[in-house]
Order: sequence, then C-alpha cells, then structure tokens
Amino acid sequence: MLRQYELVERVKDYDPDADEALLNRAYVYTVQKHGTQKRASGDPYFSHPVEVAGLMTDLKLDQETIMTALLHDTVEDTLATIEDIEQNFGPDVARLVDGVTKLSKIEAMPENERAAENLRKFLLAMSEDIRVLLVKLGDRLHNMRTLHFIKNAEKRQRIARETMDIYAPLAERVGMYEYMREMQLLAMEQIEPEAYRTITGRLEQIRRQDGGQVDAIALAIKQALAEAKVQVEVSGREKHPYSIWKKMAERHLPFEQVSDIMAFRVICEDEADCYRAMGVLHTTWQFIPGKFKDYISTPKNNGYRSLHTSLMYENSMRVEVQIRTREMHQTNEFGLAAHWAYKQHDRPDGQVSWLRDLIEIVDASHDAEELLEHTRMAIYQDRIFAFTPKGALHQLPKGSTPVDFAFAVHTDLGAQTVGAKINGRHMPLRTPLGNGDVVEIIKGKNSEPQLSWLGFVVTGKARAAIRRAVRLKERAEVAEIGKKMFDEIAARVPAKIGKKATREAIKRLGLEDEEDLMYAIGAAKIEDREVMEALVPGCTAEMEQPEDWGKQDKAISIRGLTAGVGFQLATCCHPVPGDRIVGLRKPGEGVEVHAIDCFELASGIDADWLDLSWGKRSIGAVGRLRATLYDRPGALAEMAGIFGQNAANIRALELSQAEHPFGVYEVDLEVQDLAHLTRILSALRASDAVAQAERI
Ligand code: MN
Repeated sequence: MLRQYELVERVKDYDPDADEALLNRAYVYTVQKHGTQKRASGDPYFSHPVEVAGLMTDLKLDQETIMTALLHDTVEDTLATIEDIEQNFGPDVARLVDGVTKLSKIEAMPENERAAENLRKFLLAMSEDIRVLLVKLGDRLHNMRTLHFIKNAEKRQRIARETMDIYAPLAERVGMYEYMREMQLLAMEQIEPEAYRTITGRLEQIRRQDGGQVDAIALAIKQALAEAKVQVEVSGREKHPYSIWKKMAERHLPFEQVSDIMAFRVICEDEADCYRAMGVLHTTWQFIPGKFKDYISTPKNNGYRSLHTSLMYENSMRVEVQIRTREMHQTNEFGLAAHWAYKQHDRPDGQVSWLRDLIEIVDASHDAEELLEHTRMAIYQDRIFAFTPKGALHQLPKGSTPVDFAFAVHTDLGAQTVGAKINGRHMPLRTPLGNGDVVEIIKGKNSEPQLSWLGFVVTGKARAAIRRAVRLKERAEVAEIGKKMFDEIAARVPAKIGKKATREAIKRLGLEDEEDLMYAIGAAKIEDREVMEALVPGCTAEMEQPEDWGKQDKAISIRGLTAGVGFQLATCCHPVPGDRIVGLRKPGEGVEVHAIDCFELASGIDADWLDLSWGKRSIGAVGRLRATLYDRPGALAEMAGIFGQNAANIRALELSQAEHPFGVYEVDLEVQDLAHLTRILSALRASDAVAQAERI
C-alpha cells in the first residue's frame, strides 16, 4: 500500500504548489474514519481509497481530485458527513465526494431498476464534473483488481458484468484505453472463466514455444525503419486475451484461426514520420488490404489518433501495427487526463491548471461550448441524454427535440408523433431537450411527419425520415394531378383507352406502374405526345402537333401574318390572348409571337417587328405562372382544384424551389385568354394554400 509520504511526494512531483498539509489531513481523515473496517482481502479498508488516490496521481490530477479519491467512501461507509467534509476540506472537495457517493448509492439499488438509472445519474454527474468520473473509474479499477477476494460468487459476477457493460465502455468514451483493457480483462476472468483460462494458457504456450518472436519482429521493424532513416521506438505484445476472445466470438473462430495475435506499436518523432514509417513498412512487408486505417487525419470521436495497418510477416504471420507519435500515444492510453498532463510539460510555469480551468469552464456553462470545443469534454458538451418513460437511455446531439427523440427510439414512433410530454408536462415539439429529461411521445393514429419539423430537428435520422415521408406525400399529390392530365390526353387519342392500353403504355415508356406514369405526367417529365404515342403508337403522325411551327394549336389564330407563314408563341413570355403581341421573324423558321413587354424583344430592337393581334378563335394558349405554396399536405391538390374549377388544363408543373416553409411551383397552364389567366391568378391568391401567385 502506498504510504502517506509517498502519495504526497507523488503529487508534489508534478504539482509543486500542492497543499501538503491539506493532503496529509485528507489521508489521516480517511484512515481515522475507516478505522478498523476491513476489505474482503483482509487489508484495512483505508488501503482502498489510498490506492485509488495513487491511481489518480498516475494521471497527474489536481489535489482536489486526490483528496476526493482519499475521501470517496467516507460518507457512504463511515460516520462522516458531507458537512464535515466541507468544513475540513472546502466546498469543492465536498461537492466532488458527494458526486462519487451518489454514484455508489445507485449501485446498491436492485439490478433491474439500476441499469438505466445508474447510467443516467452517472452520465449526468459526469457531465457536471469530469473529476467525479475519473475518481469513479479509479475506484472501479481498484475494486476489480481485488475482486477475487470476494467470496460470494454471485456478487463477483454482478460486479464484473457491470464493469463490462458500463464502466469499461465509459473508460473507452473518455479515451482511457489502459483502464478499459484492464477492466475488460479482469471482468472476463469472472464472466468467462473457461475462455479466459484457455486463451491465457494458449498465449503462454506460444510465448514458451516461440521464445522471443515478439522481440524478433519488433527488432526487424525497427531495423527496416532505421535503414530508411526513420527514428522510432517499437514495442510488441501479444494481444489482449479479451480482444482475442471477442474476435473468436464475433467470427466464430477457433483460437488457431485468430491469426493476428501479435500487435506492435511504433512511436515516431512527429506526424510526418508516422506516414513515412507506414510507407516503409508497406514496401518491406506485404500489407493486408482493407486493414489500413488513418485515425491521424480522421481521429476517432474520443480523440484517439494513430495509423493502423496489418502486415504479413515472413509470408505466414499476420501482425498488427499501430503507428503514432508519443503525444498521440499518451492521449490514446489515458485520454483526457493524459492529453492535458502532456501539454503541461511544455508550459513554463508548470502549473497543473488545466483541470481547474476546465472545471471553471464547465461551471460557467454560458461559454462552455465555445471554449470546450477542442477538449475531450466536447464529447459530452455536444450531446444530451434523455429517457423514455420506461427508463431506456437515448443519446442525442445537443439541441435535439422530442421529434428527434421519437425518431431515435423508432422510425415508426417518429412518424406517428403528434405531441410530447417532457418530465410529465405537455411541451411544444420544438422544445430542445435537456440532460436527463424523461420524454413521452404522444402518438396519433393517422398522423404523418410534418414538413415544418425540418425547421427544428437536428438529427440526420429525423431529417431524412421527414424528407422521405414528405416526398412520398408530394409524389402522391403530383400523381393525382397527373391522373387528371392523363384523362385529358387519353381523350385526345383516336381510341378508347382502358386498363390494358394504359398498361401497355407504361411498358413502352419504361415506367414502373400507374402511379409512376401519373407522376411523370404531373411533373412534366414526359410530354403529352409521348404519352399519346405510347397509348396508340403512330397516332400523333396524323394528328396536328401543337408544338410544331406553323401548326400551333388550330384553336389559336393570329392576325397580321402573311398566309402560310408559320408561327410559334414565344416560350420566354408565354403570351396569351389578350396580351398585346408583336412578331419577330426568325429566318428559316417562321415568326415568333411575343408579348409587347417581353424582355427578349429588347435584344432584337432593330429587327423587323410585325404588328400582330389575336384572331377570334383563340383558345389553348399556354400561360406560365409561378405560385408559392405553403408547405403543407394538400396545398398542391388545392391549387390543382382551382385550375380544375376554372377549366384550365395543366401542361406542365414543376417544383422550382422548396424552401421551408414554402414550395415554389412553376406551372404552364392552358388558358383561353388574358382575362382567364387573370381570373385564375385571383382565385389562387384568395386561397389559404397559396402565399403568392404571379405570371412569369
Ligand atoms: Mn470505493
């Protein structure tokens, strides 16, 4: 066991300003309070908090954390109170000890209630002060190291399972891989004793047989790199029995077939050397395709950085190689704590201030986000934890709303959401959730995702699901319009169109089904003529072709043209009967009919304008308009209804812009004349579904 002076010396070693007297007082306090209590090992109880404090000094943590580690079980297991701790050691330490104590209380709860509850409080406490988590992880690691002393097998199992399920993943989350691996190994020994014994036994055997193979390979790697003038340190090891076991279980492999059981670590001077080293290794030995990972340029979420690759050593043995700098290595093994402790060495004042800074930042939650961006804490600051009424935990990005939550639970639940209760109270769906909120989603039977939700959801899952639902809905509406257009087209072909002809037409057009066809027509993806040809092949040859020069719909006549000269209504201004019109001669093509105020005329100012006017039989001109609809189900159908009521056929309809909360459509409409078009525009403007309507 670590002695009092050893512990204090360790702290003074990295923090010369640490308050020696205070540390001594905490040490003496825990020894006195725990008194004659004993651990399962038979050791005095206080050996445990002292060892945990020792673990914290390995991480070079500040004196408050060391004191917290020393005192962490006093309130729970002795007569000491939080008030007492506060009087002796100040409010900071008292608050931290309280945090750790609360976590221990949850551990004593019945298992089924505990799982989620435990995790929840844990995460919440952790996001308040990372030091509570660090002490708790140290506490758990030491308890795992002494787990074998506990006689009750069931209790051992429970603690091991909890370590595997909760604490090892938490250690991973803060990047403390060293803690994670040791916890996993110790837990595996309890949970899978058979596998543990077999694998460690086999590894032992290999070590005996091959003698110094690990060393030999490490040396070969070092030499290959030295020849290429890359200075490195290489260390090798057999893989962790737990990771071998996991691989065996995941891929259903026997031990013999887990090929890469050796792993090597190459520590380089700087980042550029990491890549050079990898290049050298890849040209010296064959590398295994698909195994290369670059976590230097793309670090893992918890900040882990390294290059990973697998090599075929001497054509028979797969070895894993991790390449990194020393700084990356420190960070990778001890996470948050090490990262900052390492930085510390570069600081002239040598103060261990990072943790204090960090806690201050977290306490002053207003700028926390900004300042924490580049620290490990960011991984907590940018997410929240919320619960279903049954206690299931869901992790979401900060700013998530009940809608995000519902989609995170299940896509179907998200789709049926109509309301939400947060902590038992009805709240708007756009309310950002807070840490620890209990969210109850209220479902509606025939409800569907609303486009307006896109204005506040933050998760990709919710966003994608809403978009998909809205697209489907919109598609159905367009198809409905297409159906009306189709009926008109069908009436124009010289045959009676039934199910069979329609089916054939769908095939000829290379479309999927009837809905697909109607959608294609409604969205103007195919022209009327194509549909007519598909319905009755060859029929359009004998028919008048409204789009062709000189044969513009016979219903339209223009006065002022020489007999026999073809004309076309210009597609820039879409003149309709009633507009003042002029003609522009297009050599070899005929005459283009423009509205007098068309901007295209400005470019042909010197050209020979023909004064034209509309003839008597002027129906079927195409006017183009732009309508801005509110994004809501049925809006499109309502617009189509207005066209129908006014006996105007839709020639083409296109969503030109979708920007919440509006959808902007451009519509080509067959109208009789200007008055007709104007009437339709007025009707549109009167509609609740329409924000704006204008001619273009
Ligand atoms: Mn403890």
